[in-house]
Amino acid sequence: MGSNPTLSARSFREKSTVAFRPPLLRPSAFTSELRTVNTVAMAHAHKIDRVQKVNLKEIDTDPPKGMTKEEALAETQKLASEMEELLDLLFFAGQHSLLLVLQGMDTSGKDGTIRHFLNYTHAQSCRVASFKVPTAHELAHDFLWRIHQQAPGKGEIAVFNRSHYEDVLVVRVHELVPKDVWHGRYAQINTFESLLTASNTIVLKFFLHISKKEQEERLLDREKEVEKAWKLSVGDWKEREQWSRYQEAYEDAIGKCASAEAPWHVVPADHKWYRNLAVTEAIVHALRPYKKTWLKDLTEVGEKAKAELSAFRSGKP
Ligand code: AMP
Ligand code: MG
Repeated sequence: MGSNPTLSARSFREKSTVAFRPPLLRPSAFTSELRTVNTVAMAHAHKIDRVQKVNLKEIDTDPPKGMTKEEALAETQKLASEMEELLDLLFFAGQHSLLLVLQGMDTSGKDGTIRHFLNYTHAQSCRVASFKVPTAHELAHDFLWRIHQQAPGKGEIAVFNRSHYEDVLVVRVHELVPKDVWHGRYAQINTFESLLTASNTIVLKFFLHISKKEQEERLLDREKEVEKAWKLSVGDWKEREQWSRYQEAYEDAIGKCASAEAPWHVVPADHKWYRNLAVTEAIVHALRPYKKTWLKDLTEVGEKAKAELSAFRSGKP
């Protein structure tokens, strides 16, 4: 877990001269008025940082043509070193919290994304919270009750494997509550997330975007892996029948709950190596602007500690 400013500075320079850039959104992906916002965000993931209409069919699930796995792995490695350093600074500075929200269809790679991310942080600062079918106790409360308890404190990182968004996704698709109830939740989610961001939480939301065909292949692959039979679930095949209703629910969740402070990232996730690159890059982009402040805070803490130590040694109180 090293902090290496030199490495980080180098990554930044190299990053800023990378020739390759993926094609961004196909023009019809969002309304024209908003297109400029998205083209500014030169990144592998499609950042959605204001309320808009989202059409997932218009966003690729594949890496852009011309991007090779080797290139992606090399770039990911560089960004991941920088991310490791930034996560360390966040932890030691203790001024901000980081919340990563991971959503996606079954087999979209939420677990794999978490596994990759955890290589660059440590148990002291990072916690993973998985949100399953709510218990009776959880259901006896408002839908954000169980979520808020898992929000990260200052200096902490929380990764949500599923989240409060299930309450406008599975709940909507399966009509678990009346429409007016789930519909009211978009505004409630926005208010909740602005409370978190106003309390110095950096909120980043990821939708791991896979194609229906890729999901079928991944589900069938699981059946071939004898030692992973525990992963098999008829429920996954049943949920797959609702594919288009889920995609619609995701389009609304992403489009209605997007802000500059708590943006969504639609991640082309049919290839794990590209998915990891896109997620790592988005995290680095979000954390970089804080680096100066964190370093300054830590320098001040260091100066204060040095002064106290020398006062102690010289026998003065
Ligand atoms: P998994 O992530 O495969 O372990 O599955 C967790 C399951 O819990 C998924 O099928 C989710 O749709 C379901 N789930 C999570 N949150 C909720 C919720 N608020 N209401 C109903 N089902 C949920
Ligand atoms: Mg599942």
